[in-house]
Order: sequence, then C-alpha cells, then structure tokens
Amino acid sequence: MSDFIKIKKQKQFEVSKNVYNYLSPDYVYIPYEKGYKINVTDKEKVLKDSLVLTKENFYIYSPISGTVLGLTEMVVQDKKTSVIVIENDFKEQVKKIKGVKKYLSDYSKTDVKDILNLYNLNLTNDNGKILLINGIDYEVYEKNRSTIIKKYPSEILETIDALYTIFNCEKCYFALKNNDSENVENLIHHVGTYPNIDLKMMPDLYPISYPKILKRELIMPHNEGLGTIYLTVEDIYNIYNILKRNRPVTEKYITISGNMIETPKVINVKIGSSLNEIITNNYKLKAGDYQIIINGLLSGYETNSLNFVITKDINSVFLNKVNDKKAKECINCGLCHTKCPVGADPRTGYKMDQCINCGTCRYICPAYINLKERGK
Ligand code: SF4
Ligand code: SF4
Repeated sequence: MSDFIKIKKQKQFEVSKNVYNYLSPDYVYIPYEKGYKINVTDKEKVLKDSLVLTKENFYIYSPISGTVLGLTEMVVQDKKTSVIVIENDFKEQVKKIKGVKKYLSDYSKTDVKDILNLYNLNLTNDNGKILLINGIDYEVYEKNRSTIIKKYPSEILETIDALYTIFNCEKCYFALKNNDSENVENLIHHVGTYPNIDLKMMPDLYPISYPKILKRELIMPHNEGLGTIYLTVEDIYNIYNILKRNRPVTEKYITISGNMIETPKVINVKIGSSLNEIITNNYKLKAGDYQIIINGLLSGYETNSLNFVITKDINSVFLNKVNDKKAKECINCGLCHTKCPVGADPRTGYKMDQCINCGTCRYICPAYINLKERGK
C-alpha cells in the first residue's frame, strides 16, 4: 500500500458525535433539464413521493408535500440550472404505495432489480459473484457512511445478507476503516449471525475508499474473474428503505464542516434543500467571508453561492477561510507522480486516462499547483 497518503487530521474539521435532522425545509428545488417531462403544474398541490419529473426510465419524486411555485434558477453541482420550486405545507402527506413484502428474503432477483430501477438505484453488474460493500467515507472528515453504520447496524447487515442470497453471490466483503473503532466493535458483535459477510478492516489512508482502489486492494488479482456488485453503505441503507417501504429516497446524510463553522456536524436533510437554508437554520458561522467547497477538501470543487441545491451526489460541504496561497514554480520533486494512486503523472499527462480525480497530487504539491485541474 505504498501509493497512499496518510492525512494529518485537524481537530477543527472533525464533526460532533451528535447527528442532526433538518427534514422540514421551507422549500425544495428539483433540478430540471431539457428532455424531462414535467408531471406537475404551477400552484398544484403535491404529495410527498409523487412523481415530479420523468425521462425514459428515470423518475424524480417530491421529497415533501406542498405547492408547486414554478421554475427559478439555483446552482446545481457547479452550474446555474433551472429548478422546480415546491413550497412546504409541513403536513408531510404521503402518496399511498402498495406492494411491500414483509421479509427482504421474500424478494426475487427480478423484484429487486425492478423496484430499484423504479427509484433510480441501478446495480452495476448484477450477475457478479462478489458483493463488495464500501463502508468507508470517500473523503477526509466526511462521516456519512460511518454515521449510517452506527445508527442502523442491524438493518445494514440484514440487507447485505439478503442481497447476497438474492443475487446468488459467492463472496461478500464489507470494508470498514480500522480506526472507526465503535463501528468495528459493534459490527463484529452483530456479524456472528451472518456468516456470509466477511468484514475487511482497511487502514486509514487516502484514497482507499474510491471504488477502483478498493476493488484493486480487496478483489484483484485473485477473484477478478468472478465479477463484482459494488455498493456503498448509503446504497444499502437506501435499498433497505426502498424494499421495506416501497418509497423513493428523499433524504440524505451530509457532512457540513470547515474552519469557519462553529460546530461541524453530520446532518440528515431532504434532497432538494438549499444549502443556504440548511446553514442558516443549523450552523453558526465565525465570519461572513469564506469559500465553499463541495464534496471534500482534497477532491472537491468550489462553488461561489449558498443558493446551492443538495442533490443525491452531495456528500459534504466545507466553509473555509479564503485560501490565498499562490501557486509557485514547479520544483520537479516528483511527488505528484510517486504519490498518485494510479501511477499517473499530471505534469506530463502520462496515464491521465486512469485519473480518479482524488486530488492527492494537488494536496501533496509543495508549490501549491492545482494539478487536479489538469486531470479534467
Ligand atoms: S508535486 Fe508539484 S512541485 Fe513537485 S513535481 Fe509535482 S507539480 Fe512539481
Ligand atoms: S493524477 Fe488523478 S489520480 Fe493521480 S493523484 Fe492526481 S487526481 Fe489523483
């Protein structure tokens, strides 16, 4: 494991042990792109879980009950995008859905694939014989996966075991960070009931949690031919909720931290909430001048507006002091190449088609050169 880095953690970015909920936002914003069919009209009252947008076999549901106000513009990922605004009526009235089976093991492989497709959770390689579950957060300081395991250990293990049987797998690896001690202890205690699940303790090194890297470390070279069904702990938790309740995923855990936030913490929010509303109602800022980094201090990207919509791809938000370190001349130390987990060289373009955008080269560079930008 020579091509990984150990990140020296700073206490100010560590999240509080308590996890918070913010599940009644005033508004939600549903990104709209050309080609989608809009299933609602202005001023229409919608129930939670009712269909708002469709595109071929892709469905988007309302995370709240309320009134459709029409279209506006917000930042989605890193660009301005049209969004449908729904104002919350705070009644959380839910659309009735039938067809839930009592036990997860009662579902057939076809049932599971169909119901997951309906809620946009598509399994890659569903004929794979290895089930690989990633319980390690992507980025330093993110604690979403660790939080889910801590809160729902039995649900997670039950779902993994059911999928193992339903998909007729031959091996099942559940990767955890070896210093996530509370979860490690707890899962070792629970896992005795599930002899098919093999817990794999991985060192706290970056970027071990990237799918390509985790597969390389755990599966290759011995079992590569068997094919892998790869899922994260969030996927497992979402699958549990989908199969148990037959409902779309409308909430998600995100880590909000940064050296301009008084108390960094993990928060469970409605998908479609605005970052501005979440921050205003749940976090105290040290000052008004900050930069916003989305999805990690190493691999993330900057956005310049709190009018930013939380979509299902958002794992973390950092509000940090504005970084005024200026890039200097390259001193040819070679670290960006020798520490790259896939052996690429961002200076020359060598093997950049393998780049996983982990940001290690930028983090490690003594001249503060933003090499990650070159990997785009
Ligand atoms: S790490 Fe930075 S200074 Fe070192 S060789 Fe790479 S670009 Fe140059
Ligand atoms: S070149 Fe790509 S994979 Fe290699 S360290 Fe940089 S961002 Fe990571």
